[in-house]
Amino acid sequence: MTLVVKVGGAAGNALDPVLADLARRSDYVLVHGGSAEIDRIGAAMGRPSEYFTSPSGVVSRRSDPAHLEALVLALAGAVQTALVASLTGRGVRAVGLSGVDGGLLTARRKEGSRAVVDGHVVLVKDDRSGTIEHVRADLLHLLLDAGWVPVVGPPAVTAAGEVVNVDADRAAAAVAVALRADALLLLTNVPGLQRDASDPTTVLPTVARDGIEAVLPFAGGRMRKKVLAAREALDGGVGRVVIGSSRGPEPVARALRGEGTVFQ
Ligand code: ADP
Repeated sequence: MTLVVKVGGAAGNALDPVLADLARRSDYVLVHGGSAEIDRIGAAMGRPSEYFTSPSGVVSRRSDPAHLEALVLALAGAVQTALVASLTGRGVRAVGLSGVDGGLLTARRKEGSRAVVDGHVVLVKDDRSGTIEHVRADLLHLLLDAGWVPVVGPPAVTAAGEVVNVDADRAAAAVAVALRADALLLLTNVPGLQRDASDPTTVLPTVARDGIEAVLPFAGGRMRKKVLAAREALDGGVGRVVIGSSRGPEPVARALRGEGTVFQ
C-alpha cells in the first residue's frame, strides 16, 4: 500500500507521535508544511508573515521575494532537516527533498493573485507562488523502490528555474496523485473537518466526493486548502483522503482506521 502522509507545521501540531508511528512503516512519502517555523524565522529576519484572502475565501501566505526567502530557509532548511534527522534517529532511511530538488515539484507561476483588501479586490503582483503542474514520480519511485523514505516540502520550481511557494496540502495531494497512492492523510492540529471550526466535537466523519461542495463553506481559513486538496486527490484517483489529528498516540494508524474526516 502506498501512503502519502502530510504533517502540518502550524502551532499545535505534534510531530513526534507522527514520526514514531511512521518509523514502524515502509512505502510512504512524508510531506511537510511549516508555517510556525516560517513565522519564527521571518520575524527574526524582520519579515513577519502576511496573509491575503482571495474573493472565494482562500487564505494565502504572502510570498513576495523577501518573504519567500524566509519561507525557503524555514521549510527547505530548518523544518526538513529536523524531520529527516528525527526519522534517521529512529532508524528510517529518510531523504529530504524540496520541490526544487530534481525538479520534483514543477509549478506554473501565478500571474497575480486576487485579494480582498478593505472590501476591494486588488491584484497581488509580486508574489512568487505557483500551481503544481508536474510531480517527478520517477524520482520518488527510485527512492521508494530502493528502500528510502522521501521527505518532501515546498518550495517548488518553475520551468524557467524560478523558486515559487506552493501550498503544502495541495503539494501532498499532487504527490499522492502522481504515485497513485491508496491513501492521503492530512494530519493537522484539529481532529478533522469540523462543522463548527471552534468545536472539535463537530467533526464530520465522512464526506463523499459529491458532498465536498456542500461542506466547503464550513472550512474557513487554511482548512479550506485541505478540503480542496482532498478533492484534487480524489479526482486524481487517490483511493481515500483523511483529515485527522497529528496529536495523540499512533496518529497515522488512527487516521487509517478512519478517525477524522474521511473523503472517498
Ligand atoms: P496545518 O499547519 O496543520 O496544515 P492549518 O493551521 O493550516 O494547519 O489548518 C488547520 C486550521 O484550520 C485549524 O487549526 C483551524 O483553526 C482552521 N479551521 C478553519 N475551519 C475549520 C473547520 N471547519 N474545521 C477544523 N478546522 C478549521
